Amino acid sequence: MRWNLCRRFGPWILIWSPFWACSPSAPELPEAKQWLPESPPNVLLICIDTLRADAVDGGPNAAPTPHLDALKASGLVADQAWACSNQTVPGHVGVLTGLAASRHGVRSNLEVFPDRVESLAERFQRAGWQTAGVITNALLRPEAGWKRGFDQYLDHSDQVHDSKGLVAGGRPAAEVVNQAAHQLLQEFATKDQPWFLFLHYLDPHVPYGAPAPFAGSQGGDPQALASRYRRHLLADPIAPISQTLVRLVAADLPRGRGEARQAVRNLHNLYLEEVAYLDDKIGELLSWVQQGDRPPVILFTADHGEQFGEHQRMLHATSLYEPAIRIPMILHVPGGPQGFRLSAPVFQRDVAPTLLALAGLPWQDLDGRPMFQIDTGRDHLAGDAHWLSFYWGKWKAIARRDASGPQLMELYDLEQDPQEEHNLLADQEAPQALVEALQRVLAQDQHRRPGPLGDRHKKILQDLGYVEEE
Ligand SMILES: [Zn+2]
Repeated sequence: MRWNLCRRFGPWILIWSPFWACSPSAPELPEAKQWLPESPPNVLLICIDTLRADAVDGGPNAAPTPHLDALKASGLVADQAWACSNQTVPGHVGVLTGLAASRHGVRSNLEVFPDRVESLAERFQRAGWQTAGVITNALLRPEAGWKRGFDQYLDHSDQVHDSKGLVAGGRPAAEVVNQAAHQLLQEFATKDQPWFLFLHYLDPHVPYGAPAPFAGSQGGDPQALASRYRRHLLADPIAPISQTLVRLVAADLPRGRGEARQAVRNLHNLYLEEVAYLDDKIGELLSWVQQGDRPPVILFTADHGEQFGEHQRMLHATSLYEPAIRIPMILHVPGGPQGFRLSAPVFQRDVAPTLLALAGLPWQDLDGRPMFQIDTGRDHLAGDAHWLSFYWGKWKAIARRDASGPQLMELYDLEQDPQEEHNLLADQEAPQALVEALQRVLAQDQHRRPGPLGDRHKKILQDLGYVEEE
């Protein structure tokens, strides 16, 4: 049976929402069994820290990303993909477990990889894949449980430049990751086993800035910031925009300061320059893997997004609005469909099932589904320690977590109001079915209160600027 995402789920689209309605000209996705890898494939999972969806979507707010554009053209792209959190640790737990936020129960960077769930790396390792990971954010450090299932797990967070990796005189994260990846790829090639490689890039995370020739390429200019902010620039010549500076801008936004609005545009340009640099390094990586004898399945995504003045917010751990939760999701399968757009919503929990299904390994015990078998009508929970957002059809509800249960504070119709500007709870009740669905999801919540933080974890959070945001 050949199936078409629109045709197959047509009735549900009408019931749930035209939010993911397909255009009449949407091409038919070839039946999966025609293009699933015949032998165990190599698998490359790329997760970018702090990459908002519209920074790489080719639209008016995007950076130039020719290499990602080429990857999209040779694969499947999710038009809409959501993270399970606005923070690094829960976001990566979602990516590496295939579990929904309520099932993995991790809500904030105060926590570690949960010991009660199996990771994607463990599944590949058990099935005979060579497994390796490279990370540049110390929140994902090996001793916090993230190493499980990896034959090699390389923590290079201490090599990336100054305020990101906390070592003065360091290098951009993508340079460090690519160097490690190149070495690993050479090691993989000496064995017959397929490999699974997880690469984490910290580049777009604040402090913003890109090396030459990308610095200034999108109109960013740290020296053009008002003196009020400029005095908080870091000495780092590559990434001079400090957390302190961005927080100061954010604090000025509700006061209507014109210099703050100008600063936001400048900071966004500096962010896009870093995304453009990242794309260049992803291109370098892809040139290595795609020229090999067995080019891998590639999945490209992010742990969460970033805000630039929307709802007067900056950074990412400060709200659950769309800029912090929407992420890119691109899948490339050698010999698979090319240039397809998936209009049904895709969630972070779909990453692991997608890769396991392509490898011919069981995924059905997980909460997500392979991207190429997505059903519509799924709800989604995203959250942090204090707030949650619940996606149900075209609706998005934002609630405060209270001891007595979630207190609904905001409700948006994302189809009519994708910018979340009109809180409908001012005039109407939330749909009862939405409330009941949220109650069902929260009834499964596996959250456990994090234990006391060790000194190193506290230092990592402070250095990355998270502590004040918790
Ligand atoms: Zn992150």
